[in-house]
Amino acid sequence: MISAALYDTKPYDREYFQNALFHEKIDWQFHEFRLSASTAATATGMDAVCIFVNDCLDRTCIAQLSKAGVKLIALRCAGYNNVDLKAAKEFGFTIVRVPAYSPHAVAEHSVGLLLTLNRHIHRAYNRVREHNFSLTGLIGFDLAGKTVGIVGTGKIGRIAAKIYRGFDCRVIAHDISPCHDWAAQQGIEYTSLSGLLNESDIISLHLPLNSETYHLLCRETFKQMKQGVYLVNTSRGGLIDTTGLLEALKADCIGGVALDVYEREGGVFFEDHSGHILQDDELNLLLAYPNVLMTSHQAFLTHEALSEIARITTENIIRLQANQPYIDETVL
Ligand code: NAD
Repeated sequence: MISAALYDTKPYDREYFQNALFHEKIDWQFHEFRLSASTAATATGMDAVCIFVNDCLDRTCIAQLSKAGVKLIALRCAGYNNVDLKAAKEFGFTIVRVPAYSPHAVAEHSVGLLLTLNRHIHRAYNRVREHNFSLTGLIGFDLAGKTVGIVGTGKIGRIAAKIYRGFDCRVIAHDISPCHDWAAQQGIEYTSLSGLLNESDIISLHLPLNSETYHLLCRETFKQMKQGVYLVNTSRGGLIDTTGLLEALKADCIGGVALDVYEREGGVFFEDHSGHILQDDELNLLLAYPNVLMTSHQAFLTHEALSEIARITTENIIRLQANQPYIDETVL
C-alpha cells in the first residue's frame, strides 16, 4: 500500500482526507507538527509528503526528503512560495498542488473582511452582546460608487472583481498578464500599479508571493495611495512590508486593513496562543490598531474547498502508485 505523511494537520484535514474517494488505498500518517529540515526524518519510508502553507521545504529539507526515499511532494494549497522549486527539481521531485480548490472561498472571504471592517460588524456584534446598543463610532461608507483596485486578476481576483461590480463599485485592475477580453466583458479597466494605487479607495491583493512581489506594498507604495485607503490581503503575508504598514497606520494614512495572512504567520497562525504573550512585536502592534482586522489564514476554509483539496491530493497520490500521469493542471 502506498503511504503518505501529512504535516501541519488539524482534525478537519483528517476528516476530509478520510472521507475522500479511494482514501482507503493510502496508508495515511497525520502529523500536527510542520515539515522542515528538523522534522524531515519523520518522512523516512513514506512515498509522498503532503504539506500546507507554513511547512518549510528549503534545500536542506528537500535533500533530506530525497534521502528518506520520498517520491512525491503534494501541496494541499495553491501557493508554493514555501518550497525551493529549484532544489526540488535538482533532486528529481515532482511537485503537485491544488491550484483551484475554490477560488470562490477566498474571494468571498476577502470581501467579507472588507464589509466587516468598513461597517464595524465585529465591533457591533460584541457591543450588542453586552447590551450596548449605541451606534457611536460605527459609521462606515457605501461601497457603491467607490473605486476598488484588484491587484492580480487570476482565478480569485476575477471573482472578487465580479463581486465588487455587483456592489456597483468601479473596479480597476493591475496584472502582469492582463486579460483584456474578460475586463471588457466585466466593465473593468486595467491600469499600471501606480495608477491603481493612486486611484483606489479599496485595494485588494490577489497575486502570488515571489521575488518580484515580495513587499509589493511598502513605504514607497503606501505613499502613492489615497488618504484613508482600505487594504485587503488574503494572498500571502510577504506581499506587505509590515514595518511600512505600521508607519502608515500610525500616520493615520490608512482607513482600514483586513488581513488573512501575515508575513511571519508560521508558528502563530492555526494555533491557540490565548493566555500567552506573543513574541512578535509587530504582530502585537498590528492587533492593537482598531482599524486592523485579522483572520488566521482561513479564507480557504469552506466545505467545498476542503473536499476538493482532499479529492485532488488523494487522486494524485493514487496515480503515483499506479504510475499514471498526475492531474495535468496540478503539476508545478
Ligand atoms: P492565479 O495564479 O490564478 O492568479 C494570480 C494572478 O496574479 C495572475 O493573473 C498573475 O498574472 C498575477 N500576477 C503574478 N505576478 C504579478 C505581479 N508581479 N503583478 C501583478 N500581477 C501579478 O492565483 P489565484 O488562485 O487567484 O490565487 C492568488 C493567491 O491567493 C495565491 O498565490 C495564493 O498565495 C493566495 N491564496 C490564499 C488563500 C488563503 O486561504 N488565504 C487560499 C488560496 C490562495
